[in-house]
Amino acid sequence: MMLSSVVRNLFSKPATRPFPVSARTAPDGYRGAVAFEEDVCIYCGACATRCPANAICVDRVAKSLDFDPFKCVQCGACAEACKKGCVQLQIDYQHPVTVHGTVTFHGAPKPTEAP
Ligand code: SF4
Ligand code: SF4
Repeated sequence: MMLSSVVRNLFSKPATRPFPVSARTAPDGYRGAVAFEEDVCIYCGACATRCPANAICVDRVAKSLDFDPFKCVQCGACAEACKKGCVQLQIDYQHPVTVHGTVTFHGAPKPTEAP
């Protein structure tokens, strides 16, 4: 009994993927890391209003947007709320970091990113 299982396992395909050599690709619609297209943003604040985690802060007067990826639960509400289509949930995981930082950009042409 045990011998037959050993022989069968020797000649059968592996039950798991040999990650990271063979990584599974995320399906369409996967809610991964949040990305902003700052050039398109009009700083209306709709994304911040809909965010249940308070991860987005928009200053409409100063034309700035702060995003805290550590608060984000990747629900996708901001992407649904943004009429300009400048928020997307990528088909990629939120990458780990060693320092807590927020992403900030302004109405000025050049965005700045905190560490
Ligand atoms: S909803 Fe879109 S356009 Fe409005 S502030 Fe958020 S990212 Fe910018
Ligand atoms: S995905 Fe959800 S939690 Fe993350 S910033 Fe957008 S609305 Fe907030």
